[in-house]
Amino acid sequence: MKTELLIVGAGAAGIAAALSAWEAGCRDILLVDRREKPGGILPQCLHEGFGLATYGMELSGPEYTDRITERLAHTGVRLALGTEVLKVRGDRTAVLSDRGGLTELHFERLILAAGCRERSIGSLPVAGTRPAGIFTAGQAQEMMNLRGQDLGREVLILGSGDLGLIMARQFVLAGKHVIAVIEKESRCGGMARNVRRCIEPYRIPIRCRTTVSAIHGEGRICGVTLRHLDSGAEELLPCDTLVTALGLIPDRELVRGLGDPDWLFLAGNCHRVHDLADSAVAEAETVGTRVGGELAV
Ligand SMILES: Cc1cc2nc3c(=O)[nH]c(=O)nc-3n(C[C@H](O)[C@H](O)[C@H](O)COP(=O)(O)OP(=O)(O)OC[C@H]3O[C@@H](n4cnc5c(N)ncnc54)[C@H](O)[C@@H]3O)c2cc1C
Repeated sequence: MKTELLIVGAGAAGIAAALSAWEAGCRDILLVDRREKPGGILPQCLHEGFGLATYGMELSGPEYTDRITERLAHTGVRLALGTEVLKVRGDRTAVLSDRGGLTELHFERLILAAGCRERSIGSLPVAGTRPAGIFTAGQAQEMMNLRGQDLGREVLILGSGDLGLIMARQFVLAGKHVIAVIEKESRCGGMARNVRRCIEPYRIPIRCRTTVSAIHGEGRICGVTLRHLDSGAEELLPCDTLVTALGLIPDRELVRGLGDPDWLFLAGNCHRVHDLADSAVAEAETVGTRVGGELAV
């Protein structure tokens, strides 16, 4: 099999890159995603806050997804969902896996739009075991919003970036008690608009200059030791759920070791983490236009 342009990841960035490459004249584009639905992270973001720059109004993640995927239907871009790219080689071949098995694909250009990964609790020097009840914020969001799962009742959020703030509100709206958002810096890490919308109306405490130094519990987490970074004092905080929002890392695993070949392009969160989908889309459009122009028929 072969294609002129292979795009890995059908999130906001991959879709935007595909649309722009098509508009620039490339007529052989394969857009693949391991998920069964397009949109990447967006379908699990049920809150509003997407699309102000592009559409002049605030949309939810699923609404934003609908707007961009709808445009794909008017192009000849081939969308392959449930398809994972397992390997990319320097000779411009990729190994794809879907329900039918493995396929080797030759491509002329590759746009990697594979998104990012979440830093886990394992990246921190925290004592204790890792019992059940510890989730990354993205995992928690997916489990609650896409699978309707109930994760716990007494919740601590570790990390006050946007993801932590959004999840704090989500737990409150689900009827849970958010004990606090824990932040090691002296101020909250998230956007001011998220503090206004997600924290202040629900009076969720943000405890700056503190961190979790130990996790307690056999089987299920039952509490953490909270360390005050300025005084060194420690206190025990009971909880049954710990949600970590420790930052996002661009996911370029698929092309690690390939160097910087002239056929490889990065777009969206795998290039750099974008706070706003509009910004990931704008970057991907530039990449798509450039690559599509090179491949125009
Ligand atoms: C919780 C959260 C809340 C946010 N809130 C807002 C907000 O309110 N407003 C706003 O504008 N922005 C918000 N953002 C930011 C915005 O959602 C992102 O910047 C943007 O959606 C990133 O798009 P992306 O396409 O780069 O990545 P992703 O959406 O992560 O898409 C990457 C895709 O690549 C696929 N993929 C990866 N590897 C492979 C592989 N090997 N084979 C096949 N497929 C693969 C993945 O399955 C995924 O679908 C939020 C982000 C998060 C995480």
